[in-house]
Formats: sequence, C-alpha cells, structure tokens
Amino acid sequence: MDKKLIIAIDGYSSCGKSTFARLIAKELKYIFIDSGAMYRAVTLFYMRRKYIGSTGLNLSAIISELNDIHIDFVFNPDLDVYETFLNSENVEKEIRSMEVTAYVSRISQIFEIRSRMVELQRQIGISKGIVMDGRDIGTVVFPDADIKIFMTASVDIRARRRHDELKNKGINVDFEEIKRTIIARDIADENRDISPLRRADDAIILDNSRMTVDEQMVWINAIIEKKRNGS
Ligand code: C5P
Repeated sequence: MDKKLIIAIDGYSSCGKSTFARLIAKELKYIFIDSGAMYRAVTLFYMRRKYIGSTGLNLSAIISELNDIHIDFVFNPDLDVYETFLNSENVEKEIRSMEVTAYVSRISQIFEIRSRMVELQRQIGISKGIVMDGRDIGTVVFPDADIKIFMTASVDIRARRRHDELKNKGINVDFEEIKRTIIARDIADENRDISPLRRADDAIILDNSRMTVDEQMVWINAIIEKKRNGS
C-alpha cells in the first residue's frame, strides 16, 4: 500500500487553495482540512458575542471563552463536501460572508487562538493521509510535511475569481472592494508577529494565475508520484 502523506498547501487569500486541496484529497482518498474555515468559525463565534466588531475587540473576553468553541467538519453526501460546524451548527455559508472575511485576520493574530487551532490541526493530522490548506501549515503546523506547496496568483486575478464566485452565489459585491479586502488580508497575514504567512524554505511555488484546475492537478500528481517513488 502507498505510504500515507501529509500535504501542506499555503499561500495568499483567494488563490484557490481550498479547491485545489479538496481535489487532491478526493483523488487520494485523504482527509481534507480547510484551516481557514476554523479561523472563520472562531471569528463568527466572537462576532455573535459582540467581542469583535466595529467598536473594536475585547481580548480578555475572547481568551476566556475560547474553550466554549467546538469545531467539526461533517461530510455532506448530497454535496460531496465537508462542511464546517460550530458547536454543532452548520455555519459553512455564514463563515464565508464579507463581514467574517473582514474580521478574520484580526482574530487569527491572537496567540491563544493560534495555539489552540494548531493543536487541533495536529491532532487531526496524527494518522497522516491528510491535505490541509492555510497560511502556516508547512511552516508551523506540519513543518515535516511530505509535500509543501506555496500558492500565489496576481491580485487582480484573485479578486476576479472571488468576484465571480460570489456572483454565482447571488452575492453582488463591488470588485474594487473585494480587491481591497484581499490586499488588506495579505498585509495582515504577512506582517503579524505570530506565524506570519511565508513560504517554507522547502515549499514548491505554484503560481496559478494562468493555470486551469486540471493543469494544477496534472502538476501536483507529478509531484506526488515523484515523492512516492522516493525522489
Ligand atoms: O483561507 P481563508 O481565506 O479562508 O482564511 C481566512 C483567514 O484565516 C486568513 O486571512 C488568515 O488570517 C487566517 N488563517 C490563518 N492561518 C491559517 C489559515 C487561515 O491565519 N492556517
């Protein structure tokens, strides 16, 4: 039997990391974990409690109630996807809102939250056979991952893809606003003190600006094949 791998996919916002990671996991029959969904679910939890919002952030309340948060990924056979559950409630749609998107990078900078998420992510990965996407998977969560990919694409292309994705869901958001949010998240993620977004030294760069999903799959399959053959 093939050796089970840990595949870490990091990179900038709206590069298509989750789509890519999900497809790889499906082909390999591995577990797929969208670590961004975990930070988004945490953000939603605190937004509902009004610990983060337009008036600022209540750090002490956030830290003291961290243990009230339980996140699960539950398979939905109708849609053939895993969905994010926050304290037993399906929040998959809500965590993708513009509001959660606007606050998540602030929440993900908090040390106590990162420590807890990393601990959970490592527990999930203990039996290997996992594809996880995020910002610090190859650098912090699984520094010994078998394959590390760092994804990037031009800001305009990322904003266009995100705009189309939201439009398909019937959500109309101004293109320039989406672009601004993407740039702001890149800056926040790259410049935070704890686990900033950066390419691990041994990560392979994938710039998918001009690649289709099929082309990306051909590319990664060659890398997986090589890894399995021991090179
Ligand atoms: O991947 P996604 O865009 O859903 O991630 C949402 C946010 O969660 C990112 O902008 C980043 O601030 C945070 N994140 C993180 N570390 C990860 C995954 C996501 O800080 N491993």
